[in-house]
Amino acid sequence: MRCPRHPAYGWPVSPDENALPRTEDEWRVRLTPEEFRVLREAGTERPFTGEYVDTKTAGVYHCRACGLELFSSDTKFDSHCGWPSFDDAIPGRVKEIQDRSLGMARTEIRCARCDSHLGHVFHGEGFTPKDTRHCVNSVSIRLEPNPG
Ligand SMILES: [Zn+2]
Repeated sequence: MRCPRHPAYGWPVSPDENALPRTEDEWRVRLTPEEFRVLREAGTERPFTGEYVDTKTAGVYHCRACGLELFSSDTKFDSHCGWPSFDDAIPGRVKEIQDRSLGMARTEIRCARCDSHLGHVFHGEGFTPKDTRHCVNSVSIRLEPNPG
């Protein structure tokens, strides 16, 4: 990346300007402290505090870290659990990892491209016909509203 005003003094240009960070230090400068804590350290935002808990806007939710499209607003539903909830992900965009922290067997979900933490996925709760709840931190995603 170069300083746009002083191109001659740019810092070393990476081979691919859009390359993802390779180290946690590189992520730390790209993300806010709260985004870093959740996305890169598998933190959890406090329930009912995230900006997308009750959002109904039509659009696509992207990974806050790398921009990959993860969830359609069509799959978002009201779970009243305090976090944005989706009953499906865009195919292939979210990977599942067994998580045994906090003495519970849960399934963590991460962005398939940049490996950032998104939240957890739960099955068998009966919220929707798909019977699946992707419980996602608002700070892990960014909504791009549909045009119009
Ligand atoms: Zn990502």
